[in-house]
Amino acid sequence: MTIGILGAGLTGLTLGSLIQDCEILEKNSECGGLCRSLEEEGFTFDWGGSHIIFSKDQEVLDFMLVKLGDNIVKRRRNTKILYKGNYVKYPFENGLSELPLQDNFECLRGFINVLIKTNTKPGNFKEWLYATFGDGIAEKYLVPYNEKIWNYNLTKMSAWWVEGRVPKPPVEDIIKSSLGIETEGYQHQLHFYYPKEGGINALIDCLERESKDKLLKKFEVNTIKREDNNWIVSNGTESRRYDKIIATQPLFELIHALADVPAEVYNALHGLKYNSLITVMLGLNVAHLNEYSWLYIPDRDCLAHRVAFPSNYSEAVAPEGKSAVVAEITYNSGDSVDRMPNEEIIARTIQELHKKEIIDKDTVCFAKAMRTRYAYVIYDLEYEKRIAVIKRFLEDAGIHLVGRFAEFKYLNMDACVRNAKDFVKEQLND
Ligand SMILES: Cc1cc2nc3c(=O)[nH]c(=O)nc-3n(C[C@H](O)[C@H](O)[C@H](O)COP(=O)(O)OP(=O)(O)OC[C@H]3O[C@@H](n4cnc5c(N)ncnc54)[C@H](O)[C@@H]3O)c2cc1C
Repeated sequence: MTIGILGAGLTGLTLGSLIQDCEILEKNSECGGLCRSLEEEGFTFDWGGSHIIFSKDQEVLDFMLVKLGDNIVKRRRNTKILYKGNYVKYPFENGLSELPLQDNFECLRGFINVLIKTNTKPGNFKEWLYATFGDGIAEKYLVPYNEKIWNYNLTKMSAWWVEGRVPKPPVEDIIKSSLGIETEGYQHQLHFYYPKEGGINALIDCLERESKDKLLKKFEVNTIKREDNNWIVSNGTESRRYDKIIATQPLFELIHALADVPAEVYNALHGLKYNSLITVMLGLNVAHLNEYSWLYIPDRDCLAHRVAFPSNYSEAVAPEGKSAVVAEITYNSGDSVDRMPNEEIIARTIQELHKKEIIDKDTVCFAKAMRTRYAYVIYDLEYEKRIAVIKRFLEDAGIHLVGRFAEFKYLNMDACVRNAKDFVKEQLND
């Protein structure tokens, strides 16, 4: 049986490595999707956003680490939140004693109030933040930060998906944190891995090497048809025939390639919410900029919500004596960031990071910005209803979905690998 895998990001390449008789079609001249890295002037930047390798799923973690072999480093997270000009330990609720005393008190009081009040079930993400952490932690950090990263009204986002993803603090930890007794939150990401060389793309390179005979690049799937029990997949000039297809490309690209899609499916599709990302990649003439992994910035006077310091993951991402920095900014089609030229975003970001004393603008020796259309899936209140309509239609058509924007779920790399492995086991009996 020949299987067509549409898209060669991490998911498509993982499937390719697990399925013998398959072909992988990728629209770009490079594989990797969100896991691509840019190598220029001796710097390596993960331009789909700063990536690290971590997982609670040992089998999946091992899968990724084995692929990378010796090309791996292990790091301990040292992440901060920029709060009122000071660096506070991440997660915020584990760094309360580093806040001004009044703010610390308000966070603790808010958390205790949540414990002693009978809370109603939160109806949206914002209510969930208040009901889980209390008004102090919510208003000082979680609400402003989440409003920035999602670029979406938090009262219109649902709450069900946060369980297990946004860490929920034990009571004891909050008390200790407020008093200044050391605690760690979000343990499964406390240690992480990163390729020694080549950025996150190094993982893609390993998988790509394994599947090089199965791969067809610069093949943008734009029509998919059923013919005599086969799938005919075409880029407009060339067609391929498969017994089965597995879609890993974004749902939008998939549905638009199909004929006779019912109006209710289109309506549901165009109601799905996601945001886009611009990464501002900076090279600095500084040997050791700081000791941090990355920094969260809830302040509204700065476009970036997160600034990563990949030179602290691996020294090889910058030439000797220099450092790499990646600032991440989310936006949506038609908003002010979308309309802003890249040059202006770069200039503003350098100024803003300089003003906040994160970098010195006079040390910038490399600057580039790149955009990623599909960055984060947004679980708004209508999501479950809409996705059910789309998935029912695709299931009836016999099209399989695996991967972040194909399944249209907030999946990290480990979940993509897990879903690819499970798919092969359950659907192909391998
Ligand atoms: C800012 C950011 C930071 C992240 N950080 C981390 C992290 O630290 N750790 C972690 O585990 N995960 C992280 N992730 C998540 C991770 O990037 C994804 O889970 C993973 O890369 C998704 O892989 P995928 O193959 O499913 O999708 P994609 O990477 O989107 O791949 C889809 C592929 O399909 C191709 N394609 C699209 N249309 C077509 C078409 N018409 N025809 C053919 N091919 C097509 C694309 O070119 C692409 O190669 C992060 C994500 C973001 C946005």
